[in-house]
Amino acid sequence: MQFRDFAGNAPIKQRLAAEIDAGHYPHALLIEGPLGSGRRTLARLIARAALCRDTDHSARPCGVCAACQKATPPDLTELGGDGTSLSVDTIRRLREDAFLLPNESAYRVMILAEAQAMTPQAQNALLKILEEPPAHLLFILTCDTRTSLLETIRSRCVCLTLAPTAWEEAAPILTARLPKEDPAELQRAHSLFGGCIGQVIDGVGDGTFRQVLDLTPRIAAAIVAPKEAELLELTGALEKEKQLTAGVLAGLSLILRDALVGKYGGTTTLSTAPEAAAQLASRLTAQRLTALMEQVERLQFALSRNMNNTLFLTRLCACLRQAAGY
Ligand SMILES: [Zn+2]
Repeated sequence: MQFRDFAGNAPIKQRLAAEIDAGHYPHALLIEGPLGSGRRTLARLIARAALCRDTDHSARPCGVCAACQKATPPDLTELGGDGTSLSVDTIRRLREDAFLLPNESAYRVMILAEAQAMTPQAQNALLKILEEPPAHLLFILTCDTRTSLLETIRSRCVCLTLAPTAWEEAAPILTARLPKEDPAELQRAHSLFGGCIGQVIDGVGDGTFRQVLDLTPRIAAAIVAPKEAELLELTGALEKEKQLTAGVLAGLSLILRDALVGKYGGTTTLSTAPEAAAQLASRLTAQRLTALMEQVERLQFALSRNMNNTLFLTRLCACLRQAAGY
């Protein structure tokens, strides 16, 4: 199997290639990973490999055969990830289609993105397909974390967990996709978005990255400001901006790491906000900095669990000020 633009994740590539190069396609696959980690890219590559006509499976997807050339192959169904509901009715309709023979390929492939959006009823309807799948069916689910799905679904899937990319792995793809950006800036964005290429591409493209660079040092300073009002006002900009919030938390984590290293006399420039890091290092003890880092980690986890944003931001301000002892 050919992975082309899918960066990093060597163990997953080896595992998939070992199966697919021998002509074995898993009937139910669950790809988990954070936003922008390549879940959908990988799902589509596997789908394309299954639909490709090249007799050499290790060369699939070949990119040139009639099936690869089609923008929307008739045997590929993609659902979810675009805000549409994955209701029990949607899944029941999908089930009817699943049993139809493929039109022109050896397989019928169904990609169900953001599968965590399914209600338990919808998941149970899906289970009926996964329990006795027809031989021609390949089902690929993507989700943030497998624990958001029923155990009965998980146990019927081959699970793949995507890892963040290293800069060296991501660089060729990012510089090709964003040729006008300074590579050093892209590396900063890569670090800030936790090695998730999709987040870097979106964040640099839509201006989120710039906003994060602007906001994060100011928020770091406001954590230790005399009054809480400053922090509340700054975090107001994060309302309804989940990506920006995630970026700011990642940025804060880097500033705190720099501050902690600074506390012990070292210098790092992970955050590229040295003044903010130096200020925190001068105002807070190592214990306080460590407590803040732990708090940021907890907030990152809470954010990934789709907590109500207004409540989240109130909690963010209170938690950070408390951890800093203010
Ligand atoms: Zn092909």
